[in-house]
Amino acid sequence: MTVPFADLQLQYQNIKGEIDAAIAAVIRDNAFIRGSYVDDFEQEFAAASETAHCVSCANGTDALYLAMRALKVQPGDEVITTAHSWISTAAMITHAGANVVFCDTEAGTFTIDPAAIEAAITPRTVGIIPVHLYGQPADMDAIMAIANKHKLWVIEDCAQAHLARYKGKMVGTFGEAATYSFYPGKNLGAMGDAGAVVTNDAALAEHMTMLARHGGLVKHQHRIEGINSRLDGMQAAILSAKLPHLAAWTEARQQAARVYDAGLNQIEDVVVPEVAPERSHVYHLYTIRHPRRDALAAHLNANGVQTAINYPTALPFLAAYARLGHRPEQFPNAHRDQGQILSLPMFAEISRPQQDEVIDLVRKF
Ligand SMILES: *Cc1c(COP(=O)(O)O)cnc(C)c1O
Repeated sequence: MTVPFADLQLQYQNIKGEIDAAIAAVIRDNAFIRGSYVDDFEQEFAAASETAHCVSCANGTDALYLAMRALKVQPGDEVITTAHSWISTAAMITHAGANVVFCDTEAGTFTIDPAAIEAAITPRTVGIIPVHLYGQPADMDAIMAIANKHKLWVIEDCAQAHLARYKGKMVGTFGEAATYSFYPGKNLGAMGDAGAVVTNDAALAEHMTMLARHGGLVKHQHRIEGINSRLDGMQAAILSAKLPHLAAWTEARQQAARVYDAGLNQIEDVVVPEVAPERSHVYHLYTIRHPRRDALAAHLNANGVQTAINYPTALPFLAAYARLGHRPEQFPNAHRDQGQILSLPMFAEISRPQQDEVIDLVRKF
C-alpha cells in the first residue's frame, strides 16, 4: 500500500460538482479580477474567522507584508517572531523594512516561547508575529499580556491554523491583524496561490486594501503607492465552494490525529505532538519527533509512505540569516527539533487502513 502525504485529487473528486460549477460561473461572468466572487469570499471568510473584515490578496506571504506595511513598520524597528516557521514570516519583516528578531520555541508545542519574547524586547521592538505552527495556537494569553505591557502590535500568522481556537477563542482574533494562506495544501486551499488578512480594525482593513490594489480604492485614484496583490475570481469561487466543508474536514483531521496518537504514543523513541491545555489543534501537519528521524523517514519512504520535514533548518540557521550570526545554543528547542521532526501523512480523507499502515511501519522500525 502507498500512503501519500496529502491527496488533493481525492478531495476534488469528493466535491467535483461544486468546484466545476464554481469555475464555470466565473468564466461565464467574466469575473476574473475583483467582482462579486471575490467580495463574497471576503465576507464569508470574515464570518468564518470571526472577524469584521477580510482583505483578500495573492498569497499568505503578501498578507504578512500588507499587514506590516499598514501598521507602518519603519527602518530600525524590531519585530519578534519564532525561530520555527516557514520563511515567509521572517522574510516579510525584512521586506516591510524592519529587523527580524528570532525567539526560541516552547519545548513541546513547537510554538513561540513567551518567556523568550519577554527577553528579546528592546526599546526598538514594535511588534510580535506568533505563528500557530502545524495548526496549534501559540500561547496567546501570555503573548497578548507582553504586547499590552510593552505597547506592541501583534499579527498572528494563521497560515496553518484555519479554525483553531485558544481557550475557545478563534485564532486570528487576538492581535491587530491575522494572516492566512490558501496555498493548495493548506487546510483551506485554493487551486493556485491565494491569501488574506483579517482584522477588526476598519481603518487598517482599508489601508491594506489600498496597498494591495495599487494604492487606491477607486480606479485611477492612487492615494498611496501600493502593490498588485489580488485574489483572482476563480480562486475566490473555488474557496467559497470549499469553505462550507472546512469544519468537517477539520474534524476529520482531528479524528485522524487521535488514531495516530493512540497507535504511536506507546512506541519507544516516538514523541507524538503535544497539545497544550485549552488549545485546539487543527493538524495542518501531524509532526512527531524521533531521535533517528532520517532513518525512520527512509524506512517509511522505502515502504511507500510519503513524509515531509517542516522544516529541515530552523530560520536563524538558514543561509538567508547568516548575517545575524546565530548559534544553536541561542535556540535550543528549535535546533533540537530541526533534527528530530517528521511530518506523517495527514489529510481529511486519509483512511484507517492507510493510517494503520503508517503506524505499523513506525512500530516495525
Ligand atoms: C504557507 C505559509 C505562509 C505563506 O503562505 P503562501 O500562501 O505560500 O505565501 C506563511 N506562513 C506560514 C506559517 C505558512 O505555513
